[in-house]
Amino acid sequence: MATTVLWLRRDLRLHDHPALHAAHEAATGGDVLPLFVLDPTLLASAGRARLASLRWALVQAHEEYDGSLVVRSGDPATVVPRVVQEAGASSVHVSGESTPYGRLRGRRVHDALGDVPMHAAGTPYAVSPGQVRTTSGSPYQVFTPFSRAWRDHGWPAPESAPAGLRFCRRVDSEGLDALPEIDDAPGQDVPALTRWREFLDEDLATYGSERDRADLDVTSRMSEHLKYGTIHPRTMLADIAAHEAGASTSAQKFVTELAWREFYADVVWHHPRSAWHDYRDTLAQLRYDDPETDGAAREALEAWCTGTTGYPFVDAGMRQLLTRGWVHNRVRMVVASFLTKDLHIWWPHGARHFLDHLRDGDLASNNHGWQWVAGTGTDASPYFRVFNPVTQGHKFDPDGDYVRTYVPELAHVRGKAVHEPWTADGAYDHGYPRPIVDHAEERRETLARYEAATA
Ligand SMILES: Cc1cc2nc3c(=O)[nH]c(=O)nc-3n(C[C@H](O)[C@H](O)[C@H](O)COP(=O)(O)OP(=O)(O)OC[C@H]3O[C@@H](n4cnc5c(N)ncnc54)[C@H](O)[C@@H]3O)c2cc1C
Repeated sequence: MATTVLWLRRDLRLHDHPALHAAHEAATGGDVLPLFVLDPTLLASAGRARLASLRWALVQAHEEYDGSLVVRSGDPATVVPRVVQEAGASSVHVSGESTPYGRLRGRRVHDALGDVPMHAAGTPYAVSPGQVRTTSGSPYQVFTPFSRAWRDHGWPAPESAPAGLRFCRRVDSEGLDALPEIDDAPGQDVPALTRWREFLDEDLATYGSERDRADLDVTSRMSEHLKYGTIHPRTMLADIAAHEAGASTSAQKFVTELAWREFYADVVWHHPRSAWHDYRDTLAQLRYDDPETDGAAREALEAWCTGTTGYPFVDAGMRQLLTRGWVHNRVRMVVASFLTKDLHIWWPHGARHFLDHLRDGDLASNNHGWQWVAGTGTDASPYFRVFNPVTQGHKFDPDGDYVRTYVPELAHVRGKAVHEPWTADGAYDHGYPRPIVDHAEERRETLARYEAATA
């Protein structure tokens, strides 16, 4: 009999947890000590919404682990070995990490543990980043062949929590006091499995046809749960396969979306630098307006961040971000296009703002989502594909309900006219701003800059 430590990072759940199984087996009938370390480096880079989401996930995990979760703050390379020593533990068990910082931190803790072994089992992905390769062994550069190979590769079936699990209670916990209580942060606060079953029953069948509609609440909202691992994606994939609509086009569209998440994690695993730099260098010469040195660009960035650009669909999205900590996928694309193509600001400025405010803020999905729009990423999407914020609004919020929900100054404008307040009588009566730029003009400017950069 032994005591083992389960160091939790992005896997705050009990069910379907490979590292928990490994920790339980290594304990050979002894105790498992679940540990979460409040790492100051990560806390400093997480916005209020993500911290609120983390707190919520930790509270849930503490309950699932029968009140035995030990929470400590400090550098994990110091804290994990100390807890191991206090518990007299013989091994540490983790889920594999794929982000640059996560991998570096894992190596530092591994080295600091000395003779105590640290074992990784599973990752927050159905297929661990780095596993899906071409026949010649190289990583995939493009999504569609990756997603085909990813499906062919397959994934293990989910596992329920190990039987006979015993938790160690000999070590003190700081509790969640070290994490600020953020009462006013936005959130959904519904347990992952509850929300997941709701989605399967109510929205999976229509997901394929309605997922792009910003005004309908039909997407799964599982991104936040996947972020902190309160559910494993392979649980979701197994539930879909067993669902009566599992083979439908709609369900398969959902599986493809999960594949995007896996693809971007794979890309960052192979190309860590692409997390904050252009993945492709074809636009290395592109001229941007720099908010750090140029006052007008700074003001434009500020208007974008606060949802006061004068383009209703863009402003609704940016205010959804600030008030809900989540934004509809279609709108994420439109606001990202507006920043990079209408305001000519380099994508990392927007990516950082998103990570500060999203509950689901995820380095790989966010920063490569941004690069997809900016035209610097893995996708061959040409830089000159510029989203028109007005026609996108008409198409994906046809009656204007989405805009009216998030932009109160336009709540009095009826119907689809809300997408073009400059055509509606009295639309500006309640303080909504005029457009800060002319979209047609900025589109031309973008094309000119693109031509100059690639000439
Ligand atoms: C500029 C930009 C930034 C983004 N930032 C993030 C982020 O920080 N965190 C994040 O999880 N997703 C991000 N996405 C992807 C996507 O917008 C969200 O995953 C999705 O809106 C979350 O809502 P949902 O769970 O209801 O999605 P659903 O439509 O229900 O999709 C199910 C799941 O599939 C995955 N998924 C769906 N679309 C994508 C995609 N395009 N890329 C990667 N995974 C996807 C997510 O895990 C999602 O939870 C970003 C996209 C763009 C264009």
